[in-house]
Amino acid sequence: MGPIHYDINIEQAKDHIIEVTASLLKPKGKQTVRLPSWIPGSYLIREFSKDIIKISAKQNGRSKKINQLTKNTWSIDCQEDHELKINYLIFARDASVRTAWLDLDRCFFNGSSVFLSADGFESEKHTVAIKKPSFNSNWKLATSLVSSKVDLKGFGVFEAENYQELIDCPVEMGDFWTGQFIACGVKHRVVVTGAPITFDGSKLLNDVKKICEYQIHFWHGKKKPVIEHYLFLLWAVNDGYGGLEHKNSTALIANRSDLPRVNQGKPTDGYIQLLGLFSHEYFHTWNIKRLRPVEFNSLDLTQENYTELLWFFEGFTSYFDDLILVRCGLIEISDYLKLLSKTLNQVLQTPGRNIHSAAQASFEAWTKYYRPQPNTANITVSYYTKGALIALCLDLTLRLITVTQDHSDEKIKPFFTLDDVMRKLWVDCKGGLMSEMHLLKAIKDLTHVNLNQKINDWVHSTRELPTLELLKNFGVEAKFEPSQWAQKLGLRIAESSGPNLIVKQVLDGGIAQKAGICEGDEWLAIEVISRKKGGQSQSWRINKLDDIQLYAGEHRFINALISRDKKMTQIKIDLKEMYNNKTLRLIQSDPSRLSKWLTQ
Ligand SMILES: [Zn+2]
Repeated sequence: MGPIHYDINIEQAKDHIIEVTASLLKPKGKQTVRLPSWIPGSYLIREFSKDIIKISAKQNGRSKKINQLTKNTWSIDCQEDHELKINYLIFARDASVRTAWLDLDRCFFNGSSVFLSADGFESEKHTVAIKKPSFNSNWKLATSLVSSKVDLKGFGVFEAENYQELIDCPVEMGDFWTGQFIACGVKHRVVVTGAPITFDGSKLLNDVKKICEYQIHFWHGKKKPVIEHYLFLLWAVNDGYGGLEHKNSTALIANRSDLPRVNQGKPTDGYIQLLGLFSHEYFHTWNIKRLRPVEFNSLDLTQENYTELLWFFEGFTSYFDDLILVRCGLIEISDYLKLLSKTLNQVLQTPGRNIHSAAQASFEAWTKYYRPQPNTANITVSYYTKGALIALCLDLTLRLITVTQDHSDEKIKPFFTLDDVMRKLWVDCKGGLMSEMHLLKAIKDLTHVNLNQKINDWVHSTRELPTLELLKNFGVEAKFEPSQWAQKLGLRIAESSGPNLIVKQVLDGGIAQKAGICEGDEWLAIEVISRKKGGQSQSWRINKLDDIQLYAGEHRFINALISRDKKMTQIKIDLKEMYNNKTLRLIQSDPSRLSKWLTQ
């Protein structure tokens, strides 16, 4: 047992309650304990303490008064250096990768939802004991915490060098599927919970292994990798998507239908997306978990920690995640261009790109990106997608710079790439803290060309990126196709609205906004107004916006029949300005030029 130890009891699975007993061997006279308010990697104050049901303390076998100081801190007047035990219950039923979950099928938790930290002891060794539940003998346990004494199923005692390490190692328990592989000498384990019997585990292991080997080479060449072991925890659900990166592991959530199936053949779009998620979170092992913003030197888990650099850490990771799939041969070039087209369209169809720069979007992630509301698309831009396009523009710009300097001491490279810049940053920053200045300097040192002004424009202004011009140089052309009706009208429909059309967002400048449609409107029907004098108008019930094409065709005016707060309203929409609205599709026009980017 370390100076601070936790016992985890999951017997109350039916009630979704995790019981924790934290034992502090030598507490202070006035001992304060606290729970984080957010989890690193997910930039939102989540107030994990809201899930604590009750908390009590004991010393020398007697109850001690526990004083709550704030929403997430408590203090106990103790007899110094006598063991203090704090017992508390946590409600665990959040179906995401960010908090905790417990039922009779599965238990998952992040330490930030479960372990109270003890002031003054954060740098000490922390130990945890997790007992196998009595209700299911098939359960196993997987975590990247170092085990000090565990049974064959993985239950037992674990340790962490400090509190930060303790909360960076999520724990999964259940009757899950598990497999492993060695990549560049590093043991990788993959755990999948919720997989159907048709799941092809060896296909997933083979494909993920390729990604891991590629990325280890990417960062380290033939040198020793920075990781000694790695764990992927995937929860397969009916409907879900997301991931959260950790130093030696990642927690993922994805659709069950996106898992590879035995004898499936060509990868489905869903499986490609799943591989992209594996690739993304694994890339974070280097890009944000080690190489990280200088502002993240010491994280304050009680409040927002601001950085302007998420366009780099999330955006560049988003650029490389799919690019690595095509470089590994896991997807076709046409698949990759489809994914890139989607990213480009997402940015181009977000009016907020004219309001927020990528740096501003990063800084305000806590209140804008992570707190989506009806106006979000009009006031900010995703630092994932815009950041990925900045990475693309930078990569292509670098590849167009002719290398002229003397490289007498090494093999002459015809051009530099963003890979070179990432590796140089890794070396320059010693795999640690970095700022935007380090990026600019790494580029200048490598290429002897000053790209500061360009990068400043892309990152700190709202000017359009030169994406399509640059892609042309690499044999990629953009074709334009008619958009979906939601885009033509300038609105977004709520995905969970089922057969009813509920307006979720109204985009700035769109014809829906001009006509007066509002967020929350339920669009029931359209009346198509005849163009002919004395012609009959027609009314149609609609369940999807694309039905407008069938019923209105080339007619200029329609009336939208709207239910707003249950009051029926008719809104006249002029469709005239809409027909120019196009969605872009990237196609390969010159394979030899394209190969200079995608395969080198
Ligand atoms: Zn990410």
